[in-house]
Amino acid sequence: MKKILCLLLAACMLFALAACGGKSPAEETVPEPAQEQDHADWTRQGYYQDENGNMLSVTWMDDVDEPGWYVGCVLGEDMLDDAWGGMLAQEGNTLRGSLPSGGEKDALTVTVSEEGADGLLLVVEGGETYHFKPMDMPEATIFVHINTEGWGNIDYAQGETAPEIDPEYPFQSAQINLAEPAVHTFVAWPQAGSVFVKWTKNGEDFSTEPQITVLLDESADYVAVFEEDPGWQNPVMNFIGNYQCDRARATVECLGNEDAWITVEWPGSAWELARWDIVGTLDTDTLTIRYSGCTKSVVTYDDKGEVKSQEAEYEDGTGTVVFHDDGTFTWHEDQSETGKDMVFEWVSAAEGIDYLALVNKLNPLPDGWEDALETVTITNSVGDEVEVEARAYAAYELLKADLEENDGIYVELDSARRSIAAQQDIMDRFIEKYGADYAAKTVAQPGFSEHHTGLALDLYFRIRNADGSFTDVYYNEDMEKEEYRDIWDTIHKKLADYGFILRYLEGEEHITGYRYEPWHIRYLDSAEIAGEIMSTPGLTLEEYLAGREAPEVAVDLSGSSLYTEEELIDAMLAVKCQFASMAGCELHAIRYAGDEAASEESLSWLNSLDEGAEYTQAAELLTDFRTDADIQGTLEPDHEYTDYQWWLARTEDSGWEIVSRGY
Ligand SMILES: [Zn+2]
Repeated sequence: MKKILCLLLAACMLFALAACGGKSPAEETVPEPAQEQDHADWTRQGYYQDENGNMLSVTWMDDVDEPGWYVGCVLGEDMLDDAWGGMLAQEGNTLRGSLPSGGEKDALTVTVSEEGADGLLLVVEGGETYHFKPMDMPEATIFVHINTEGWGNIDYAQGETAPEIDPEYPFQSAQINLAEPAVHTFVAWPQAGSVFVKWTKNGEDFSTEPQITVLLDESADYVAVFEEDPGWQNPVMNFIGNYQCDRARATVECLGNEDAWITVEWPGSAWELARWDIVGTLDTDTLTIRYSGCTKSVVTYDDKGEVKSQEAEYEDGTGTVVFHDDGTFTWHEDQSETGKDMVFEWVSAAEGIDYLALVNKLNPLPDGWEDALETVTITNSVGDEVEVEARAYAAYELLKADLEENDGIYVELDSARRSIAAQQDIMDRFIEKYGADYAAKTVAQPGFSEHHTGLALDLYFRIRNADGSFTDVYYNEDMEKEEYRDIWDTIHKKLADYGFILRYLEGEEHITGYRYEPWHIRYLDSAEIAGEIMSTPGLTLEEYLAGREAPEVAVDLSGSSLYTEEELIDAMLAVKCQFASMAGCELHAIRYAGDEAASEESLSWLNSLDEGAEYTQAAELLTDFRTDADIQGTLEPDHEYTDYQWWLARTEDSGWEIVSRGY
């Protein structure tokens, strides 16, 4: 999404630039910002024109997912329909590739190469050749981008020199020649996000951070002042933000005009979600948006979290969105089978963090969290640095002191906060080393780990020896030993007093998505809520927040002469952990399908499904579960599934992996 926006933006910058051309020759030229570059030696970026008024822009973009060269061109009279733009691949001193049309025309396959000392040659496959020269530099120019961060418009105050603006386009760029000393006052209307003002003097770049205030330079003999227009703003502005309703999440944005842009995403599972794209105008009297032409699509993801497919279910959806004073909105979708209204609540992110936030395999870290998070970093007994949310750390210190003083138990912090970027690093390293498949099965999806919150703490402990020295009990397999069960019991009993809960309970893997971890605790900032959860056996944070307890799961792993019950429990845990990423599904029973399902035939089928796999054993588990009425995706809503199959396989030296599921 971000990439598309950036490209659109870059294209529109060029269009806006082109719109200015021809109207006021003295002001149409734009000096090239001298950007810092870490890309290859091909540095000829900037704005170019040829003698027929065709235009070309070459820009190094590094704020997109995959940095590269953005090339835009206008080859003809029509600013939109004769415009093309896109990312081109670099081969030595040539850029090559396809440029999608900004209008209705076909994409162009082009090469852009250096010509002479400063020119560029654009060759269109099967078409014309264009010779471009850099645009003339004026003595001084202010170049204003609105929308590099957000969306908005700019205008000028009465009596001031006006930048050329095409009111048709919400993405605005404008430039003004400031060769004459003067004060120029512009008015900016940021409707969402901020205004990015960039100015150059004598070709030198004086770019600023995104901002909307004053732009001046001590050495300059002119000043440009930008200010917000207090008299105007898009009414949707009052409602932009992120919203949540049960499992569905929504984003309300506003772009250049008075429309509201609303996206609703409703996960059916970790690998599938339904998505609505709604655009409509807000009636300011009733705070109602009556929309049509809404697209509903089903988006599927692969194991790496990348979009695998997006298919439109319909493109003519209608409905209403009504905003309320209490920060909620009600959504009524006419096409919905149940026809019911959904109430979305605004998710606050800017002011501090929500200590009760749910982050698991289905629920990502809330937006804005990493900006709002306050942490402390400490060094533990084995010399590792650990970053923890500040209040969670204060509470942990009290817990630690209590355990030391009263129980002779010495706990330490193994790890706590991991940023999304750090998780992505781990993921990337694993992909490089072991391949994408293995990484997806081993590493938590960036964005979906509770450790991102800073509120999840992994403990370990130290045993005090007779001579007063300490031995660290640090590795998971050591901490899980039966001999330490009492120590964990003592620790767990004290958690709630300090606002912590034990997060991944034994037997609740189908809800939490994780196997039992005695060391992983979660801070809730409320001893009362923590006490309520910890005093109810088997109650997970998921159930507490949903206000209901899931029923017991009937387990039957008997009747195998191939596998021990322990081996089948391992297979069951893999299935239960995976089950937790099927939103709204309530697991009722899980059982072993029998040895006949674990045949050689099954094994070779499973090996054929997983490229390069050399599984030596297969097992099938069956589950009964119920989907809820709201489930999206391929599973039927409000349906009792029986004998839903899970096919697992393993190699000599690895654990069970789920290779296939379904009927
Ligand atoms: Zn953990």
